[in-house]
Amino acid sequence: MFFFFGTRASKVKERKLKRTTCPYCQTQDSFVVSSFSKYFHLFWIPIIPLFKTHVAECTHCKKSYDKTQFTQQMQQSLDNENRTNPAKRPLWQGCGCLVLVAFFTVMMAISFYGVYMRSKYPDKYKIALDPRLELLNADINKLSPLIRAEDTLALVLKKCIDDDIVGGISTEDIAYFTQRDGDKLLVLLKVRDMKKIAAKHRRDLIPVIEDCLRYTNPKDSITQYFIGVEGKWNTILVKTPFDQDLGGRFADKQLLLPFYGDTPIIPEEKEKDSAPAEH
Ligand SMILES: [Zn+2]
Repeated sequence: MFFFFGTRASKVKERKLKRTTCPYCQTQDSFVVSSFSKYFHLFWIPIIPLFKTHVAECTHCKKSYDKTQFTQQMQQSLDNENRTNPAKRPLWQGCGCLVLVAFFTVMMAISFYGVYMRSKYPDKYKIALDPRLELLNADINKLSPLIRAEDTLALVLKKCIDDDIVGGISTEDIAYFTQRDGDKLLVLLKVRDMKKIAAKHRRDLIPVIEDCLRYTNPKDSITQYFIGVEGKWNTILVKTPFDQDLGGRFADKQLLLPFYGDTPIIPEEKEKDSAPAEH
């Protein structure tokens, strides 16, 4: 059995018991009393000092007596010793406790300081979440195999995919979403049974999408395509005019963020920008 906490004892003092007689061998002043201090430990680190125990041994007959077996004479002698030459607990027996108290004090101080600084300078300590990521996640959540009638590009794309992809995945389960912003187009697909396609072949979906969109975009009014392909659990493929992640397993969807703007929009600035636009 293995204990991580409990009590241990360490010897703190050895003293002679004066004016005593061993009840066993009748030798005078033959006792040496060893004093032990017990302490509570956690992972062998002393935390709290507990009580002391004393064991007397006759140096002549080697018989040892614990505190309950002391004669009245031995007890008196020990009491005298404790008054004149006490067995002090070593400081280290409480060090774990001090360390814990110090640790929690420091942690409290740090957290209070953090709360204070955040309340005094709320702007400086605001967690910088990129609001573009929220927009992207919202659009990913709009992915549906039932394409909205107004999402004409998604309908065209579905037709291309249904015609071009043969075997393997069930194309009727693929979800589509497109969103246009000026000359930028965001194209999102969700292929639930992507695992049926080997990772190295998954990237072949991208040229099918690109060819289809170019064919349906003869006037070249769209110049920037931001394509993201979701698997069942995560983003699998990303291709944008600036970057791509076509490993076919775990793609970084944040590469799509430039579709929503070049730099992270800070909420206040966004409010200032969007407020006049509503009029
Ligand atoms: Zn003895």
